[in-house]
Amino acid sequence: MIVKNRHYERKLWMEELYDVTIIGGGPAGLFAAFYAGLRDMKVKIIEAKPVLGGKVHVYPEKLIWDIGGQPPILGADFIENTIKQGLSFDPTVCCSEEVASIDKNSADQFVLTTTEGVKHISKTVLITAGSGIVKPKKIGLAVEDKFNKANLFYTVPTIKQFKGKKVVLSGGGHSAVDWANTLLHVTDSVTIVYRRDEMTGHESDIKQLQASKATVLLGSTIQELIGTSNIEQIRVVEEQTGKEQLLDADAVIINHGYEKNLKVIENSSISLEMHEQHGILGNVFGVTSEPGVFAAGDALNYEGKLHLIAGCYQDAVHAVNQIKQYIDPKADSSEMVSSHHQSLKERNQVIFSETL
Ligand SMILES: Cc1cc2nc3c(=O)[nH]c(=O)nc-3n(C[C@H](O)[C@H](O)[C@H](O)COP(=O)(O)OP(=O)(O)OC[C@H]3O[C@@H](n4cnc5c(N)ncnc54)[C@H](O)[C@@H]3O)c2cc1C
Repeated sequence: MIVKNRHYERKLWMEELYDVTIIGGGPAGLFAAFYAGLRDMKVKIIEAKPVLGGKVHVYPEKLIWDIGGQPPILGADFIENTIKQGLSFDPTVCCSEEVASIDKNSADQFVLTTTEGVKHISKTVLITAGSGIVKPKKIGLAVEDKFNKANLFYTVPTIKQFKGKKVVLSGGGHSAVDWANTLLHVTDSVTIVYRRDEMTGHESDIKQLQASKATVLLGSTIQELIGTSNIEQIRVVEEQTGKEQLLDADAVIINHGYEKNLKVIENSSISLEMHEQHGILGNVFGVTSEPGVFAAGDALNYEGKLHLIAGCYQDAVHAVNQIKQYIDPKADSSEMVSSHHQSLKERNQVIFSETL
């Protein structure tokens, strides 16, 4: 499901006031949009990327096993389901809009300004921006951008495109090791090049890789990508000895992690306290140091925070309940269960009539 914009015509001043504007359309933002709809709020989602789904777009072909009550599901299918649920109550969706700052106007409303200067106003703000806009770390070689649209990758969009290819993976963390093991299902030629002396993936994954046909070059880095329109060879240098070798390559995957950049906060006049390690400092209810601004998902940090998809759901429910009470102090502090929720009655009838 590709959702671009809904109920949205870009103007410089988006004067319609929303109860909550959610920054980031990943799992946390989408579940919050669903839950805020359940609590009868007027909701807008602003997402910097052209499509909703968040960081899961990095691993569309990986199976996710650790979502409660959900059998193993492909990232791409999970995105599809998450979007469907997130749009249940028809929120306004603004994609390809990066929020650059959050400020307040004289009416005590929040003004969210995008990098293109569009202004959105809102009674409250929910930040579900993860670690910022997902940007893979580059390898830092001059010709990198030239091969970017050819056979240089920062993620694995589809496994089958690497079938029978000579694949070189740069990186040796959990994700790189996992990808190497997965790619060995479709090709016998996988080489890992890693600057450290030991890989840092899960023990069982590393054992599996070591027992496989993969070649592992530790203490080594890729120093050159060689080719005309496509990479044909790479030059690898062993750091301690300076020993060089040229390897043939049909595809090179750079797996050096992602840049963490919650820029939106740096540029805002509101003052949000940050966690010393990562993200916005808040509490388990998504309450931040700025009244009216809440956070959920990977963007939020507190003692015991779960940086997993499962953690997004609890964060989102708590934050939305807090937002409801912030707007209307007489509102219930928590919501009733969905299985007998008044606002779902009609939808339930439609589903029952289709399935029973
Ligand atoms: C390779 C990999 C594998 C993983 N595997 C698993 C797994 O198996 N199980 C699991 O539970 N978790 C897994 N995770 C972690 C999981 O993906 C995250 O915990 C989850 O995506 C967090 O959701 P989120 O909505 O908080 O943030 P994100 O998914 O990061 O979404 C944040 C969204 O905010 C947008 N955004 C950021 N800044 C702005 C801005 N200024 N303006 C507008 N939009 C903005 C971003 O573009 C993004 O779409 C994995 C992560 C990676 C990288």
